[in-house]
Formats: sequence, structure tokens, C-alpha cells
Amino acid sequence: MEIPAYAARVVGRLEKAGYEAWCVGGCVRDTLMGRVPNDWDVTTSALPEQTLALFDGVFCADGEKPFKAVPTGIAHGTVTVLSCGQPVEVTTYRVDGEYTDCRRPDSVSFTSSLTEDLVRRDFTINAMAYSPTAGLRDPYGGADDLAAGIIRCVGDPVKRFSEDALRILRALRFASVLGFTIDDATADALLALRGLLDKISRERVSAELAKLLCGRDAAAVLSRFTPVLTQILPGAVVDVPLLTRLHGEPLTTLLAALSADGSDLLRLRFDSRTCSRVALLARERNRPLSCKLDVKCLCRDIGHDAARELMRLRGDRKAESWLLEILADGDCVSIAQLAVGGREMLSLGIPSNKIGNVLDALLNAVMEGRVPNEKSALEEFAATL
Ligand code: ATP
Ligand code: MG
Repeated sequence: MEIPAYAARVVGRLEKAGYEAWCVGGCVRDTLMGRVPNDWDVTTSALPEQTLALFDGVFCADGEKPFKAVPTGIAHGTVTVLSCGQPVEVTTYRVDGEYTDCRRPDSVSFTSSLTEDLVRRDFTINAMAYSPTAGLRDPYGGADDLAAGIIRCVGDPVKRFSEDALRILRALRFASVLGFTIDDATADALLALRGLLDKISRERVSAELAKLLCGRDAAAVLSRFTPVLTQILPGAVVDVPLLTRLHGEPLTTLLAALSADGSDLLRLRFDSRTCSRVALLARERNRPLSCKLDVKCLCRDIGHDAARELMRLRGDRKAESWLLEILADGDCVSIAQLAVGGREMLSLGIPSNKIGNVLDALLNAVMEGRVPNEKSALEEFAATL
């Protein structure tokens, strides 16, 4: 297994100091699959204070840059070590206490056993640890499930989803992103317990939904588990051919494809740019686009990028080809693109409170091809208004 040097250094330094240390979770899963991990996490027998002492301000072997250790989640045992500028989350072996809110354990305690740390992890494919010196530790059959493409809870799925309901969405997200199937017992439990998602913060739900939607199997997963989706978005509709066709499009297009009017999304918590783009796509979804001028007007009203998203959403190839022509020819669709501006209008003697209207009229005339987008022609035309 290939480990990037910055992460291997962290594991190596902990081991040299006499602690156990392993790469763990998503980075092991992704590397075994030949995917590039988002982040490298390390689990260790060292206590957080020991990790801090071992890394803070210490120079790397090659003297490039010092390590830096930041106590980012001391209560949960997490120290972020910056190794050659790259963050590695180092967390002490942990046992989670009781869960009473379906979100997070009431308390955590540290343990000296790797196996105990792995048993608290959500799915078998996420419960593997690897060290360059000690090899792979996989007490729950994660490598077999990875090879077979199966998402399976570690332990009793009903208990695991009751502890932390976010795992319901994580299961669907991994199934979608990795193209895996969800084991029957795990699937039954997550469907039965979907109501617990109401207790999860809208930010966390939104972040998982975004990853799920962008995954390669989003359409299949959402159609199989539609009740989970409607638990978080009651008005959502799963249009399998549409979602399949839209794979690879921006998140906003995918969200618009789920929700007929976009207002539903206000139940979730996406950033304001995402919300307004989805609302815009919903509003314009049925706008007639039957000629190139219609597409120019659309660009004027919502901009080229949103126009392109709208056409993809609608699957309107004809309109998209007009849009490409408009872009390629640099056709004027905004006042900013006109060959004249407020200054020219003032020097023609047009009162300043009328200038906006005159420029709008010039833009329409140019878009309709009645006047060329040239300074002298536009000034002549403006004088007739
Ligand atoms: P990715 O980083 O690709 O989104 P990941 O599996 O690495 O996926 P992280 O959120 O980075 O997810 O978590 C790292 C590891 O922590 C997971 O692989 C898993 O072992 C454990 N983990 C994360 N969230 C949970 C959870 N809600 N319940 C149990 N274990 C979890
Ligand atoms: Mg990760």
C-alpha cells in the first residue's frame, strides 16, 4: 500500500516513540480501491497530550518544514499534525460512550486497543487500519466487503444507526460514490430508522446529500431508498432517467432535478449561492426557448452559466446549440457588452434618469439585430428614442 510521505512520517515518528500508530478509515479504504483519499487519518495509542508533545515545533527529518500540532478536537482525542504543510488528523484510540441524542456520544474514553477503536467505526470498509511496519488490520472483514462492493455496518445495524443517524446518509453516500450495494440487514435497518434523521443538523444532512447526489450511482441509490430522501426532502421526486443523464453536472443542477419548485431545499442548509441558483433553475424550468433570440434573452436575464445549467436540466439540445453559438460569436446579451455606455449617453444630452431605459432599448435592438453593436450606429439610434 502506498502512503504519502507526509503521512508515513507521522506514523513513523509515533512508532519510533514507542506508540502504536496506523492510517485508518477512508484513506485505507480508498487506497485499497486505487482511489486517491481526500484526507489521511491516523489512529494511535498515544494520548492527545503525548501527540502534541511529540510533534509541536519539531522539524521533519529532511529539515524542510517543522511539524506543527494543533489541538483541534482534544475532547475527542484529535490533534491535527501539519506535516510538511499537509494536515493529518491524529486521534487517540477511542471507545464511544452512550448515545442518547442519535448524533454523538455523550462521552468518549480512550483505550489501548486498536480493535476497540475499529469497532466504533460505521462500516466494515471504513474499519481497517494500515501501518507500513505492521501491515493491514481488518478484524471485521472490510477487505472482503470492499472486494465484493458491499456496505455493511460494523456490528448490529439497528444499534449503529440508532447511535448516530447520520450513518444512514453515509451508507447511501458510499453506495452512490463507490457504486456499492448495501447489505440487506444494513439496508432494512436504515430504512426502518430513517425518522431519526430529523435529529441531525441540516448542515450535516446537506453535506452528505451533496456527496450522494454527485456519486456515480446516485439515481439507483435514490430510487431504491426514496423514503430516506423524502425524510429529508419531503417534496423530492426521483426521476431516474433524468438523474442518470445529469451525472457529472454541477450540484445545483442535480438539486434542481430533485425538487420541482426549489422551495423544498430551504429545509436543508446549503450556501446562499447554491439556494439561489436552484431557485432560479426551478423558476425558469419551463420558460419557452423556441428561437435563438429567446436564448439571448435568457442569457441577458440569468447569465450564460445558469442558462447552460438550465438547458442541461431540460435536456434541450437545440437551445444549448444556440447558446454555444451565442458564446462562440460573442453575441451581445448584456448592457456591459454594448459598444456604448452611460458616458456616451450623457454626452448625447440624455438626462441621467433616462439613461437606464435608453441602454435597455439599445440592448434589445442589438439582440434583435435591428442595430449593429457599433458606437456610431448606437448613438444614432439613441438620438431617435
Ligand atoms: P471521506 O473522507 O472520503 O468523505 P471517510 O470515510 O474518510 O470518507 P471521514 O468523515 O473522513 O469519512 O471519517 C473518517 C473515518 O472515521 C471513517 O472512515 C470512519 O471510520 C470514521 N467515521 C466517520 N464518521 C463516522 C460516523 N458517523 N460513525 C462512525 N464512524 C465514523
Ligand atoms: Mg476521510
